[in-house]
Amino acid sequence: MPENKEYSFFQSVEKSFDKAAKFTTWESGILQQIKECNSIYSMRFPVKMDDGRIEVIEAYRVQHSQHKSPCKGGIRYSMAVNQDEVMALAALMTYKCAIVNVPFGGAKGGIKISPRSLSAYELEKITRRYTSELVKKNFIGPGIDVPAPDYGTGEREMAWIVDTYQSLKPGEIDAAGCVTGKPISLGGVRGRKEATGLGVFYGVREVCLMEDVMKKLGLAVGVENKTVIVQGLGNVGYYTAKFFREGGAKVIAIAEYEGAIYCKDGLDEEEVFQHRKATGTILNFPGATNIENSGEALEMECDILIPAALENVIDNNNAPRVKAKIIGEAANGPLTPDADEIFAANGILVIPDMYLNAGGVTVSYFEWLKNLSHVRYGRLEKRFTENANINILNQIEELTGKKITDAEKEIIAHGPDEIDLVHSGLEETMINATREIMDIWKANPSIPDMRTAAYVSAINKVGTSYAELGIFP
Ligand code: GLU
Repeated sequence: MPENKEYSFFQSVEKSFDKAAKFTTWESGILQQIKECNSIYSMRFPVKMDDGRIEVIEAYRVQHSQHKSPCKGGIRYSMAVNQDEVMALAALMTYKCAIVNVPFGGAKGGIKISPRSLSAYELEKITRRYTSELVKKNFIGPGIDVPAPDYGTGEREMAWIVDTYQSLKPGEIDAAGCVTGKPISLGGVRGRKEATGLGVFYGVREVCLMEDVMKKLGLAVGVENKTVIVQGLGNVGYYTAKFFREGGAKVIAIAEYEGAIYCKDGLDEEEVFQHRKATGTILNFPGATNIENSGEALEMECDILIPAALENVIDNNNAPRVKAKIIGEAANGPLTPDADEIFAANGILVIPDMYLNAGGVTVSYFEWLKNLSHVRYGRLEKRFTENANINILNQIEELTGKKITDAEKEIIAHGPDEIDLVHSGLEETMINATREIMDIWKANPSIPDMRTAAYVSAINKVGTSYAELGIFP
């Protein structure tokens, strides 16, 4: 077993990067430039809380790379936020965007607060002040840096951000593109909310459809009937569980910080969610067994384990006890580098975070494009496509003398709505990225794991951009 070393999150990312860099031919200067965080904005500002107290808020925005503009990445609200964490997450965004061919540099923001213990009014004040600090230093804008939701933030916070930005930049025609993950009424795109979970599902499904990979793991091809354990029932975990269940898999356990529940016949995420909302805990769900120590759920027998909460939940202590055959990293950085090595040695396939959870940023890209084009997806072509399809169906009926039922006609003629285009764009993106990474891995069998192959893909793409920018002639 590898020795127990403590790495900061950013050092873990650097370690994974260095491991992959050996399989590329870039000169060390380019590798160094790719690795570094280009701009780090650490800020403090006062906010008057509801009880009259003044609190000094600690917040960050890190732009890891500007090899493409704008930079892109979410903003998280959590007491665990610190500069190292935001740097690591910003770096992962650069690699993530490169792997899925989304033309952005990587960035990340964080505010060190506990959103659950603040009122909506306090959160609004903090969010708006944070946004104006970003505007002051030119750290936000549709062509500069575009934040999005992350742990502890969602549509509501994005609405406050776009509103603050627009009020400070009157007349900026593309202002709606200064942030993504907005409510639809403020320029959001349909499908953004479930995007990360759906992307996780598409990515894992594509791997499960690879015969050679499944054979090596001793698993049947396809996601149907596979047993899945999901850690975290936030936005990402909820939708990941939903799409696996709808895809024919069985979600046998769901873990949250207060405990976990197990049911061998499978759990319905919506019922579990409602139960937790009503009772304040995931435990005591009818028909399921309680697991008081939530961490134990990670170590149970299953085909696919999905950590969908925070970083560093599997390290060299618990990794040897993990029995899953596939680990799909829905969260950012849930495994330490030591855990990676243990899984590689034990023949467990780790599908890495910075590509598997790229569904969020991919659909953010679609939202940003929608904001710049000022038109909803499908608006121009939906009716035209429908009419063309109906004409074809009518011709078929006439030529064959047979009738197609109205229900069938409706399905076949259907012109694409925004949600159809977003989901199919995401599916295409995830399938292509999975294949690209697997091809790199297959072409070089000395690459030890899929994460390293994903990093090689990212390094080659970012390296090519830098080289083509002429920065390193
Ligand atoms: N916070 C998400 C992530 O870590 C989404 C970022 C975005 O949409 O820009 O990928």
